[in-house]
Amino acid sequence: MAWDFSTEPEFQAKLDWVSDFCKNEIEPFSLVFPYAVRSKNPKVKAMVKELQDQIKEQGLWAIFLDRELGGPGYGQLKLGLLNEVIGRYPAAPQFFGAAAPDTGNMELLAAYGTDEQKERWLKPMLNQELWSAYSMTEPQGGSDPKLFKTYAERDGDEWVINGEKWFTSAGRAADLLFVMCTNGIFIVPRETPGVEIMPEPRSHNHIKYTNVRIPADHLLGPEGDARTLAQRRLGGGRIHHAMRTLARCELAFDMMCERSLSRQSHGKIISEHQMVQEKIADSYASIRMLRLFVLETAWKIDQSSTAETRTDIAAVKFTMAKVLREVSFNALHILGSLGTTDLTPIQAMYASAPTMGIADGVDEVHKATVARNVLKGYEPHEGLWPTEYLPAKREAARAKFEPLFEKDPELRKIAEGYARFAAARR
Ligand SMILES: Cc1cc2nc3c(=O)[nH]c(=O)nc-3n(C[C@H](O)[C@H](O)[C@H](O)COP(=O)(O)OP(=O)(O)OC[C@H]3O[C@@H](n4cnc5c(N)ncnc54)[C@H](O)[C@@H]3O)c2cc1C
Repeated sequence: MAWDFSTEPEFQAKLDWVSDFCKNEIEPFSLVFPYAVRSKNPKVKAMVKELQDQIKEQGLWAIFLDRELGGPGYGQLKLGLLNEVIGRYPAAPQFFGAAAPDTGNMELLAAYGTDEQKERWLKPMLNQELWSAYSMTEPQGGSDPKLFKTYAERDGDEWVINGEKWFTSAGRAADLLFVMCTNGIFIVPRETPGVEIMPEPRSHNHIKYTNVRIPADHLLGPEGDARTLAQRRLGGGRIHHAMRTLARCELAFDMMCERSLSRQSHGKIISEHQMVQEKIADSYASIRMLRLFVLETAWKIDQSSTAETRTDIAAVKFTMAKVLREVSFNALHILGSLGTTDLTPIQAMYASAPTMGIADGVDEVHKATVARNVLKGYEPHEGLWPTEYLPAKREAARAKFEPLFEKDPELRKIAEGYARFAAARR
């Protein structure tokens, strides 16, 4: 019977190491040197390298990449368990070389890049010498890829890209822009003439691509197949977001429990008030459900692929957003006025909760995908009544027993007695 929720001791030892390392090294370091991983200052860089060398020694660098793509090949389930630890610390994913949006872009390069493309871009990205962004959403439409217009025209040995993108996270700071055109995904160095980054928004950029010329070999994967690549990228990205969101929910939960045991009101520790208990109990149950769902989905990906696990990935995506909204709200509320300040992580977590229902596809679209896919496993019933219509089921059951009743009239009488009893209760 293969149904086991335990973690093998060797891997648990790794998780324990990651937990100690994040708590004792990464968190204090990033509180003093925020955004250090991208710093160009040689002293800060040297300190970051020292920490990252320890991560590499543990074999925990670029943990998101499968073995055949050049990573340690932990698979999604173990990655989920690792992200559950790392995701508590905002700076940790970058320290571990496992932060979006670079991870998804590296996965694409690893899966679809030519040897030359991997040498030129993947290796330096893995070493954090190059940073990237993913340029897919357009100003006139995000949820519906059929509205995208950005197009790359072939001109001799070059592609010429024209279009406009919206909400390219960290585009301003990226060396490489992975641009989804209607006819393929192209790698555009940000410095290429014709790439214009608009002043607003600051972090998720509006970018105009005007006659942007790139060499022919900057096409990633086959021409015309942008949506397959995008799906692969986003499918992986969504489950990784869910893993880190689980970690954020657990952090919020720990904060609400600690506070509820520490604060008094109306003659009681607040944890003794039933409505506080309700928030704790509901949050606990939601997190347990989310955790199982995330890890089971990760396990399913390991058994098949992101494409085959699409329905569950979509369901996990909107579920994690819902649980984050619920749990971060409960935690904020239990922290009272303190929860509304930026003196703890709760306020930012709660403010970011709606984002999780929009980034990587809005909840509504994922819900529609889930419903559509789930309904493929069903058929309409024949006639007026559903399959579970009890009078019809009773009739069919009686017909099944009729030969027995023929042989044993006593049994028929007993069955008729049961029928009268049930009818009287209805
Ligand atoms: C923090 C963050 C980071 C992001 N990073 C990137 C990035 O790096 N690169 C990138 O390309 N994009 C990025 N995005 C953009 C993201 O992919 C889009 O926001 C998302 O796809 C939704 O598109 P939209 O914002 O244009 O919303 P719209 O498509 O305009 O949708 C708005 C609303 O309309 C409703 N709606 C839309 N379609 C349906 C439907 N089919 N059924 C029911 N209701 C519907 C929903 O209520 C939805 O919220 C990011 C977004 C966020 C919030």
